[in-house]
Amino acid sequence: MKIISAITEMQRTADEARLLGKSIAVVPTMGYLHDGHLALVRIAKQNADVVIATLFVNPTQFGPTEDFNKYPRDVERDIKLAESAGTDILFVPSREEMYPTDYLTYIVIEKITSVLEGKFRPTHFRGAATVVAKLFNITKPHIAVFGQKDAQQAIVIRQLVKDLNFDIKIIVTPTMREQDGLAMSSRNMYLSSTERKESTVLYQSLQLAKRLIDNGERSCSKLISEMTKLITSKSSASVDYISIASASTLQEFSNLETGDNTLISLAVRIGSTRLIDNILLTI
Ligand code: AMP
Repeated sequence: MKIISAITEMQRTADEARLLGKSIAVVPTMGYLHDGHLALVRIAKQNADVVIATLFVNPTQFGPTEDFNKYPRDVERDIKLAESAGTDILFVPSREEMYPTDYLTYIVIEKITSVLEGKFRPTHFRGAATVVAKLFNITKPHIAVFGQKDAQQAIVIRQLVKDLNFDIKIIVTPTMREQDGLAMSSRNMYLSSTERKESTVLYQSLQLAKRLIDNGERSCSKLISEMTKLITSKSSASVDYISIASASTLQEFSNLETGDNTLISLAVRIGSTRLIDNILLTI
């Protein structure tokens, strides 16, 4: 596995691969890799000749009171894991390389970024879309692989690619979970052992909603209230939001109807750690 930290070298390497007729897949990450990330690398490997994973804790997608400084970082460990999953090139730029002091350009995607996560993290998608667009221009991929774990991000990136005519195929892969259902996340390492036990309530509440829907419940306020009851029965948990919305437009439903492609998503604070999760359902 080749490790590259300069943008010009990454672009030249991508150009060389393209000249040889090779297809490129990119897997953008913020590092502290886990099996969810590695699943993305494996899917990338199945779909392209050259897999580039990127490792960059992107400051512009963190709000001023968020965890940018304490976000877990372990590049040596990530190098081993990325290589073991079949990464060909690991792109690890510095902050100065990505955002020199005279940096001025940001990408704003309207409407779909002001709901759900966007309501609680108003500058998050501006930062995420900007860094992804930059990484696309730097790694020159044919394919980019993202996780369903960040459902709204995947929708935002699809919109970005469509609106700005990036010639890139987006693949979204299922959420990888721990055995007890907790979605894998670099942030899970923040949890104390009691919090780790209580954190399973996110997925349990999504499963509860699915069961209630399977049994005929169609009222979203009823579903949200049952989910909230379950989540707040855990002393460390507090709900930022629970949303039952169209999986394509993110517009919230009040009542579910047959055929609705539905995204049930939530953000919950377990102690001071903010976790997100979601499931997709067709009613
Ligand atoms: P992050 O490093 O958290 O920015 O995530 C990088 C990529 O990995 C994003 O496309 C995420 O959606 C994806 N990802 C994170 N956690 C998981 C998971 N548990 N299962 C599948 N993909 C994931």
